Amino acid sequence: MAEQKVLTGAVYECVKCGQRTTQEELSRLPEVKCICGYRVFKKVRPPVVKQLKAR
Ligand SMILES: [Zn+2]
Repeated sequence: MAEQKVLTGAVYECVKCGQRTTQEELSRLPEVKCICGYRVFKKVRPPVVKQLKAR
Protein backbone atom coordinates (compact mmCIF):
# COMPACT_ATOMS: atom_id res chain seq x y z
CA MET A 1 0.00 0.00 0.00
CA ALA A 2 1.49 3.28 -1.05
CA GLU A 3 1.33 6.06 1.41
CA GLN A 4 1.11 9.57 0.14
CA LYS A 5 2.31 12.34 2.32
CA VAL A 6 1.98 15.99 1.53
CA LEU A 7 5.03 17.94 2.44
CA THR A 8 3.69 21.07 3.96
CA GLY A 9 7.13 22.45 4.54
CA ALA A 10 7.82 23.04 0.86
CA VAL A 11 8.17 26.67 -0.10
CA TYR A 12 7.96 28.06 -3.60
CA GLU A 13 9.35 31.35 -4.75
CA CYS A 14 8.07 33.32 -7.72
CA VAL A 15 10.96 33.83 -10.12
CA LYS A 16 9.60 37.22 -11.12
CA CYS A 17 8.77 39.08 -7.95
CA GLY A 18 10.27 36.80 -5.34
CA GLN A 19 7.04 36.31 -3.48
CA ARG A 20 7.19 33.16 -1.42
CA THR A 21 4.27 30.85 -1.11
CA THR A 22 3.89 27.56 0.62
CA GLN A 23 2.69 24.48 -1.15
CA GLU A 24 -0.25 24.47 1.17
CA GLU A 25 -1.36 27.88 -0.02
CA LEU A 26 -0.88 26.95 -3.65
CA SER A 27 -3.00 23.86 -3.29
CA ARG A 28 -5.90 26.02 -2.18
CA LEU A 29 -5.80 28.06 -5.35
CA PRO A 30 -7.64 26.92 -8.51
CA GLU A 31 -4.35 27.23 -10.36
CA VAL A 32 -0.74 27.71 -9.46
CA LYS A 33 -0.28 31.38 -9.88
CA CYS A 34 1.51 34.13 -8.07
CA ILE A 35 -0.19 37.29 -6.90
CA CYS A 36 1.70 39.13 -9.63
CA GLY A 37 0.23 36.82 -12.26
CA TYR A 38 3.40 34.91 -13.00
CA ARG A 39 3.24 31.15 -12.98
CA VAL A 40 6.85 30.12 -12.75
CA PHE A 41 7.98 29.12 -9.33
CA LYS A 42 11.16 27.67 -8.06
CA LYS A 43 11.28 25.44 -5.09
CA VAL A 44 13.18 26.76 -2.15
CA ARG A 45 13.99 25.07 1.05
CA PRO A 46 12.96 26.79 4.23
CA PRO A 47 15.87 27.39 6.54
CA VAL A 48 16.39 24.47 8.82
CA VAL A 49 16.12 25.48 12.40
CA LYS A 50 18.01 23.24 14.70
CA GLN A 51 16.36 22.79 17.99
CA LEU A 52 18.69 22.68 20.88
CA LYS A 53 17.53 21.28 24.10
CA ALA A 54 18.30 23.62 26.90
CA ARG A 55 19.07 22.00 30.17
ZN1 LIG B 1 5.22 36.87 -8.47
